[in-house]
Amino acid sequence: MENEVVSRNFIEQIIDNDIEDGHCKKVITRFPPEPNGYLHIGHAKSILLNYGLSQKYHGQFNLRFDDTNPTKEKEEFVESIKSDVEWLGAKWHGDVLFASSYFTQMYEAAVKLIKKGKAYVCDLTPEQIREYRGTLTQPGKESPYRNRSVEENLELFENMKNGVYEDGAKVLRAKIDMASPNINMRDPIIYRVAHITHHRTGDTWCIYPMYDFAHPIEDAIEGVSHSICTLEFEDHRPLYDWVVKELEYENPPKQIEFAKLYLNNVVTGKRYIKKLVEDGIVDGWDDPRLVSIAALRRRGFTPESIKMFVDLVGVTKSQGAVEYPMLEYCIREDLKQKASRMMAVLDPVKLIIDNYPEGQVEYMEVPNNQENPELGTRKVPFTKELYIEREDFMEEPPKKYFRLFPGNEVRLMNAYFVTCVDYKKDANGNITEIHCTYDPQTKGGNFAGRKVKGTIHWVSVSEGVNVEARLYENIVDEEKGVYDEETGEINLNPNSLKVVKNCYVEPALAKANAQDKFQFVRNGYFCADVKDSIEGKPVFNRIVSLKSSFKLPV
Ligand code: ATP
Ligand code: MG
Repeated sequence: MENEVVSRNFIEQIIDNDIEDGHCKKVITRFPPEPNGYLHIGHAKSILLNYGLSQKYHGQFNLRFDDTNPTKEKEEFVESIKSDVEWLGAKWHGDVLFASSYFTQMYEAAVKLIKKGKAYVCDLTPEQIREYRGTLTQPGKESPYRNRSVEENLELFENMKNGVYEDGAKVLRAKIDMASPNINMRDPIIYRVAHITHHRTGDTWCIYPMYDFAHPIEDAIEGVSHSICTLEFEDHRPLYDWVVKELEYENPPKQIEFAKLYLNNVVTGKRYIKKLVEDGIVDGWDDPRLVSIAALRRRGFTPESIKMFVDLVGVTKSQGAVEYPMLEYCIREDLKQKASRMMAVLDPVKLIIDNYPEGQVEYMEVPNNQENPELGTRKVPFTKELYIEREDFMEEPPKKYFRLFPGNEVRLMNAYFVTCVDYKKDANGNITEIHCTYDPQTKGGNFAGRKVKGTIHWVSVSEGVNVEARLYENIVDEEKGVYDEETGEINLNPNSLKVVKNCYVEPALAKANAQDKFQFVRNGYFCADVKDSIEGKPVFNRIVSLKSSFKLPV
């Protein structure tokens, strides 16, 4: 390994240095979600980054719920987050952790700061606090309560804890520097009174710590070595460092920021996804058009494809957005060899082989995946009447159209060569039947010396199974961009869901279990829907089409 040239991202370089200079004995990372919604693709990046580092450095990865704000938190989200993290393959150390289990230690930490003269109880109203804070160009003004004695502060803070005051009547503030150029350092609030029932601690507490105070303490208690968060916390780092320094933790954690993952023209923020769910625009948090992890999983993405995507995106300090087709590229790559390639007709028209025996069923032995013999073979029934795709026949073909047209011969995939001899139309001019003759000598679809350019797929009318398929487009109108500039509303694409009821698939697909993934030849990769499939009658979600607009940068 020693001579191996490895490229390190900037976080790994920091960790390498911390190990080298003896600061870091064991790499401990964490993923700290707030249980107030479902996780999305951006969180997947954070999870895989933190978990990956713990693996790479033989350290530890904690899953800790940051449940210090009881207003928005729900137990429902705890379970969904656990299952999403598990599904991504990130194994957390021991039990899941909850920031709320440290409320006593946080309270004690606040008392310690008061005793050191580093925190005070302030009676200014929220508006006054805002006013006194100053602006980016003007320094703040000191609170008249700033110089209360330690004794008085201890007593008032205890009263806060004991429920003596109304919400908002008093806060505990760190005593740092009202003139600091960094507004976060201008005596930030670290505890507030809030008579709210917490989803885990019930009514034990009526004061709750603020994020900037709680988070470093949570990290320090757990011995987290590197507390990795997103860029918007960069300006909060001095406060993070102040908290761990004033509380005199022996081995203080280090905060490192990286750029959030954004996908162009995709709704990623938890807030916005929540709104789509609440407005009933989508069918829940796991609607396959969303990029919540639950939705990606239901759509048919694999943990491997998400990991590949996150690796391709990389870890940087500069903000940028990536393209959704890159995610599509990753799932195609992952399923290319794993998924069986099946025949399914999404827009059926009947093809009748005039010279094929009535009532005969012939089973064609077909490899499941030509690129991966390990997937074995299956038998596909072939009969006189078949369904083919409507687009695979034309009355008057343009140049270079090699599929079926009157007089032309094509290969029926895995079966025989057929020649079109006739066709029928209804009163509206729609093709209703195509008649062909077949050549019994061409079984298996290969026949030396015969030049047949087109190959089309098919499903037996009598043996095939009728299923529903769902085809998706971006939920966002890409021409307009995600948000309407005036209203702030999401610009919706009215065609984001197309339900195709009349599909025919080969009988093997009727046995698909929820979440089974297949390639439907020429039509894309599909996954059996976990909510709406019933035994013997799966519903298929299109994960992605086969055509790609994304090229890996070289
Ligand atoms: P959102 O921005 O979608 O509302 P959040 O940041 O409020 O998400 P949290 O539960 O607070 O959600 O986040 C848990 C962790 O996931 C944090 O460390 C956060 O920085 C990280 N995270 C959130 N969104 C992204 C993203 N788009 N890319 C990378 N990491 C993210
Ligand atoms: Mg948040």
